[in-house]
This record gives sequence, C-alpha cells and structure tokens, in this order.
Amino acid sequence: MSVHRKILEKSGRLESLQQQQQQQIPNVQCQEIDQQKWLEKQDEEVVKNIEEYQQYNSINNIRSTCRVFPRTKEMYMEAKIPFAVIIQPYGQSIKQGFPCVNYGSNPIMRCQNCRAYINPFMERMKDEEYLRCNICTCMIKIPKNFLQPEDLDKRADLCTGSYDIKAGQEYQMRPPMAPAYFFMIDVSSKSEGILGIMGQIIKDMIVEDKFNERTLFGFITYDTNIHLYNFNSKLKQVQMYVLTDDNDMPTPGDYLFNLQESKDIIVAFLNQLSVLFPKPKEKSTQFIAALNLTQKIMQDNGGKLIILTSYPIKELNITENQKSPLNHFQPTNNILKQICEKMHLNYICPSIFIVPAGFNNVGTLNQLVKYLNGDMFYYDDLTICTQRFYYDFLGVLGKDYTWESVFRIRLSIGWKIKCIYGNYTVKNADLLNVTCTEDQKVLMYELELNQPRAPYDNLYIQTALLYTSNNGERRIRVHNICIPITNSIKTIYSQIDQPCLAISLYKIALSQLNIAKDVKDCIQTKDFLIAATRSISNNCKLFKEPLDSLHSYMLGIMKSQILHYNFDQLSVLTDYINYQRSIYQYLNVDELVTYIVPQLYNISDLKEQECIYDDSGYFIYPQSISLVLEEVSNGGLLLMDCGNYLILFICKIHDENQMADIFGKHYQNMNLVEDNLYSNSQNPINDKLYYLLNELRNNKYTKYAPLYIVKQGSKTRWEELFFQNLIYDDFNKNYRMGYNQFVQYIG
Ligand SMILES: [Zn+2]
Repeated sequence: MSVHRKILEKSGRLESLQQQQQQQIPNVQCQEIDQQKWLEKQDEEVVKNIEEYQQYNSINNIRSTCRVFPRTKEMYMEAKIPFAVIIQPYGQSIKQGFPCVNYGSNPIMRCQNCRAYINPFMERMKDEEYLRCNICTCMIKIPKNFLQPEDLDKRADLCTGSYDIKAGQEYQMRPPMAPAYFFMIDVSSKSEGILGIMGQIIKDMIVEDKFNERTLFGFITYDTNIHLYNFNSKLKQVQMYVLTDDNDMPTPGDYLFNLQESKDIIVAFLNQLSVLFPKPKEKSTQFIAALNLTQKIMQDNGGKLIILTSYPIKELNITENQKSPLNHFQPTNNILKQICEKMHLNYICPSIFIVPAGFNNVGTLNQLVKYLNGDMFYYDDLTICTQRFYYDFLGVLGKDYTWESVFRIRLSIGWKIKCIYGNYTVKNADLLNVTCTEDQKVLMYELELNQPRAPYDNLYIQTALLYTSNNGERRIRVHNICIPITNSIKTIYSQIDQPCLAISLYKIALSQLNIAKDVKDCIQTKDFLIAATRSISNNCKLFKEPLDSLHSYMLGIMKSQILHYNFDQLSVLTDYINYQRSIYQYLNVDELVTYIVPQLYNISDLKEQECIYDDSGYFIYPQSISLVLEEVSNGGLLLMDCGNYLILFICKIHDENQMADIFGKHYQNMNLVEDNLYSNSQNPINDKLYYLLNELRNNKYTKYAPLYIVKQGSKTRWEELFFQNLIYDDFNKNYRMGYNQFVQYIG
C-alpha cells in the first residue's frame, strides 16, 4: 500500500478499503425473487468479488474512479461519472522491488491473439495444458517443455498483479541504450547562485558512484553564446568551444562521454563550474539554438536532458498569428513543439528548472514537458530558490528512470479507450512514448463500452511498459487489475473512490481548459465541474449513498487559483499558475489531493505514539483537523500541508512556554525561519515536528516543500494563504463559499 494512501487513511481523509467494504456490503436477505431483489443479490456477489480479486489487483499502481463498472451504455450515461483509471506505468517503488519472470531462451508466453502477457486472472483449464486469456478469451497453450504444471502456482506472473518480464532480442530495435544525462545550463547572471550547487551535487554523486559504468554525460552552457565541452579521456583538461554563428555545427554524438572513462576530467570541470563565468552576462539568448544542438548531440542515444533556464527566451514570445489576443494561457507558438517531434523519436526526456527573471513563458516551455513526458521545477520564491533547487536537482539525478520506454494498455472485450490524459506522444496506434518515466508519474485513461452491453462479468486491464533498465536490460513491467461489472447503479455509487473521482474530474476539466481558445472558457470549465458534481450528488441522494468527501474535494477544486486567474499579464504569477497546470498533468492522486484540500495538524497537541515509525516501518501521522477557523480560535501551533509548500501557524492563543521551547525564548520578536525550529533538540515536539516535515516532504514530487512560519496577525501573504486554505470556511475571495453553503448550492 502506498505510504501516502496510508497517511490519508490514518488521518481519516480516506476510508480504508476494508472500512469501505464493511460499510458498503449490503446485508440483503433475498427472500422474494423479483427483478430488483435479484439484481441486488447479484450485486452482493459483485461486491464480494472485489475483495476476492484484491489479492491480484495492482492497487498501488492502478486507481479507478469506481471499483465496479457499469453493465450497459445506458447505465454508463446515467451514472454521470467518468469511468477512468489513473495508472503509474512504472509503479510505486517498493522495498523488495518487483518480481521478475525470465523465460530464458524461450519466447515470452503471450496470448497469440491479443498479445496479452500471462497473468493471475487467466483461467487455468482442467487439463492444465491451456490458459484462457482474460483479455480476449482465446486459449493459450502451455508449452510442456519449459513450463511444468507444478510451476504454475509459483510463477510471479500467475500469482501477483505487478511484475517484470525479461525481454529478449525481439523486444529491441537496437542494442539497449546507455543511461545518459545531458546538461543544458543557462550561465547568465540569474543562474549565478545555482551553478555551484549544481556542480557540487553532480560531483558528489559521481564520486559516490551513483551512476553505473555505462552512463554517459555531456554538457552545454549558454548565455549570448553557446559553449560546448570536450571531455575526451585522453585530454589533460576539458576543452571548451565557444560557438558563434560562424562556427560549423559539431559532429553529433561526439559530445556524450562515458562517465567512468572521463570521470576525472568531468569532476575537474564541475569543480570549476561556479567560477567558469566570473562576470556572467545579463542575458542568455541562445536557448533555442542550444536546444537544437542538444537534440543533435543526443539523437543517437537518447536520455535525460536536464535544462536550467533563467533569462526569458525571445523566440518563445513571437506570435505566429498577431490577430489572436495574447492571454498567456496557451503556448505562444510551436517552435518547441517542432523540436519535440524530433526529440520524442530520439527518446529524449527533459527536466526543466526555471529561475524566473520576469516572464519566462512557462505555458510555452511546458510543450517540452507535455510531448516528452518531462517535468518542471519552477522557483517563484527567489529567497528559497537555492534550497529548493538543491533537493529537486538531487531528486531528478537520483531517480530510477525507464530508458527508451513505451507504454500501452489492453482491455478485455467490450471496452475501449475513450481518452488519455497526461504527458506522452503517440508512437503508433495505442502505443505511447513515455520515455524516462519513473515511480511517481501517472497517465489517466478514460474508458467506455464499445458495445451496448458488457458481454462479460469483469473488465480486465493489463498495462505494459517496455523499457531499458539502468544496467541495460530490456524489461516489460506489467500491472493487472480486474474491475467487476455491475447491473446496479446503486452499487456504482457505493464503490466510488472519491479522491480518484475528484482528481479525474479535475484532470478532465483542466484538459478542456488546456485546449480552450479563450481564457473565458474558465467559466465553462467551472460550469462543467459544478454540473458534474451536481449530477453525481443528486444520484447519490437518490440511492442513499453518502459522498461527503467528494464535496470537500470539489469545493477545494472550485477554489483553486487556476480556475480564477485571468492569464492576461506577462508576470511571474502567470508563469506560476501555468506551472501548476503543468504538474497537475503528472502528479499522482494521493499527492494531488493535498494541493486541493490541504492537511492541517495540531502540533501543540501531538500524542506520544504519533510522528514515529511503527514496527513495520510505517510513519504514524497525527490525526488531521478540520479546515475551519474554529481550529485557529482553539489556539496552539498548526501545521498546514498545502502540496508544494507548508505553513506553520502560531495562533494568537498559545502556550508561551511551549512556543519558547520550540522556537527559542525570543520567538515573539524574531523573524522565524525553519532553522529556529531545531535550536533545542531536547524538545520532544521539535523532534516530532522534524520527523513529520521530513515525511511529508519525502512523499512529494518536489522534494523540498518550503516551510513558512506565520504568526497570527502578521498580515503576510502566507497568513492570507493560510486562511484561504481553510477551505471549509469562506475566506477565498475568488470563491466565497463555505462547505455547508457549497453542499446546499450543489443541491
Ligand atoms: Zn488474448
């Protein structure tokens, strides 16, 4: 089970599956055999099946908006919810790793008809010579020579929902690529503070042998010029070439170097990185040229492209059609999209670090993220930019990536893909290019019936990510899930995964917004969300199925800044909101819900057994408290987790001795920062707070969520945000509605 899921359960935000099932399995005594009773009786079986299949379902890696799906198209429409699955193609990291199946020199056993991989949901026929494919119902002959019947009970691919399969020659078009990291670094004045940190982190990781012997490295730096580096191991020191317009393009492929062979010369270069440009130029103007050159250098191998950019990129601000109004809500032009078209064929995936210098046009830069399964780190608060960069950069370099990876899902008969949400490029038909994916990134698939009535009692989904591992093995990571089909709309409403449903609705709404032509379409997006919530809510009432937490999530979504912003100015704020739109495409459900409904903890009142690790290594989170003003009136010290930042709020009413213990005696007159917290390490609250902050941060995509310490009455931006985030009250100027009012409004 995901740790974060556990957090939400422990805090009461998410009912555990077990609790939900206990509450929701109807105890119907079926005496009369009328149609309705018959249906209900049948659905008892459906609900029981959910539990039975649970042991094989890859629940950590595939979440569905509802644990059952509808039998007919009519029900599908009537239910008014998107029937979608949110998938982590690589799967959440688990300590023991994923089991691996090896067919040796034999071909991988697959259904000859639909090409599904064998899995626990395939029925073993009596004579033990065949398996029935759960995706297409065809028979798969079990070859006797290498698969004995007694082995069938032990095989990972027949006993577990998620596993790896070793893939042979036929699963590769070329020899497995080497892990490669290419750094494209803006060295103009805004980057000054960061170059040293960057050099230090890469150097430390090299010295600590964090990269294997096949790893390739390369660097470009750019300002008003482009600088290329030759790390050939035969050289005594690095050679730098400054490219001007007159230079010939260097030969591609010559600028990626084997790290082990060129280790010393690369380390020497990294030691110099912060002083290489003693008088940094104000402007960096060669981003596009540097990116084109990078593509050429990386094209033969592919790999992770790490970009640092600070100065606005002039080419991105040139509009192709002067007539359309500029609202900075859509990419300004397609220059980057055109580069992406080449990069995706080369298996290049960018991570972009943006230090703002005015308006950086994040909305347009996001094309690199969108088409290449990339990610983005944007530093709106320059005062903590270096800390954030440190942890994010370390995180990006330390991740376990799937090199040259492609992804597809298979659905059992009766179902088809309606729409795919997330960052990818279609390689061909239903095969997606999602190179360098990792444990946290998600894709969402909305599904629909492709015939009036589902012909079988279960929908089976099998996902397959074909990738090259760090050590050059071709592997297929497979996840399987079974979703029972119901005849009753009541059962659908009793089996909704509320956070997953809310996030799905938000992702659909955002994708409408992302293709909208006019910023005014925000209004339509809000209308869509309200209409969807209202229909679902009405159905719930009709079938007497409570959906309280859905209301909270939808209220949080309605209050989100993205839906209330004008996108009409060239500003850091516009960039920040576009950055939020970007990350919402790839963050997983458990993380994303904290962005819309923050978690609030009372630190003054932590119990002895809270904020420690239990015997099985799980962190015990404190009980979260309600997002209402009353909690502030009760006083104390409150911690709010708002997704990408944290607020520690000192209420007016507080125990002075306790605060002095936590922050030091002069806390009233000090400007409080996180460093103050750990001045007294003897204090048990301090220790617990330290562990809690660490745990919250480690579960996030961005590894350093800054902590802002706010005294009530300080009238700072962070105090204002704290109150706005008490979403059950009506402090948000953009959407003045408290929880009860919202429920009434939804009707
Ligand atoms: Zn099949």
